[in-house]
Amino acid sequence: MKQINTINEYNLLFSNLPKPIALVPTMGFLHEGHLSLIREARKSCATLVVSIFVNPTQFSEYEDLDSYPRDLQRDLSLLKAENVDIVFTPKVSEMYDEGFSTWVKVSGITQVLEGKSRPNHFKGVATVLTKLFNIIHPATAYFGQKDAQQAIVIKKLVKDLNYDISIEVLPIIREKSGLALSSRNKYLNEDEKHTATVLYKSLLKARSLKKEGTMESSVILEEMRKIICKEPLVRIDYISINDVNTLEKLKVIGDKALISLAVYVGKTRLIDNIVI
Ligand code: AMP
Repeated sequence: MKQINTINEYNLLFSNLPKPIALVPTMGFLHEGHLSLIREARKSCATLVVSIFVNPTQFSEYEDLDSYPRDLQRDLSLLKAENVDIVFTPKVSEMYDEGFSTWVKVSGITQVLEGKSRPNHFKGVATVLTKLFNIIHPATAYFGQKDAQQAIVIKKLVKDLNYDISIEVLPIIREKSGLALSSRNKYLNEDEKHTATVLYKSLLKARSLKKEGTMESSVILEEMRKIICKEPLVRIDYISINDVNTLEKLKVIGDKALISLAVYVGKTRLIDNIVI
């Protein structure tokens, strides 16, 4: 496994890399969710590249960029064990040169849910992924359903900008308790970790309501709210039911709907979702 910090180093290697190349973009502090993407990617590519870059442009000034968990040595040993070929670990200055001023903005679908709560988030995400696609030249890139809206935004970006890259989206990996794995779970103490299981419990409630024939979003959302609000430590940012492709708000659930939520547990903002 090679660790590369600069774009130039990658360019020098590129022509000799066996193709196809797969890319798994991450912000590091790896867990089984990331590893599930890496294992799947490993199966179908000749060269597997994992990037670790805590992208400052997708954090607002009020968010946790400085405290975002990092442990590069641990990440590198996990990646080596997964037989990763190249780990791309650029510094911020490598990705954003002095005077950087070009942005990629996906409109429409970035105005709701995470995009509404975190106004410049997807501009940062779309820009950094465009750069990573241009630098690494993958045939396939892997993302988690954990960040459902991000996956939809990336698919749109790839289509609109004519990238010849297939986007694979893999299921959410959870703890036994149902809590979706996230690097940010590191912020939670034991009590909060227990409390955080209400996110998934509320999503399961939504699923069972639909199975029993409840189709009105307002009814489902109210039942979810009741479950979450039993916990004094939590504050709901949003819960929403949207079309899985367009992210249009649904009043009535049809064949398929994305139910997503963002909830503060103590000071930690967690997201989760389910497709029903
Ligand atoms: P991050 O390091 O949080 O930016 O995540 C990198 C990639 O891993 C993104 O595509 C995430 O959606 C994905 N990911 C994060 N957590 C999980 C999880 N629990 N299950 C599956 N994929 C995940």
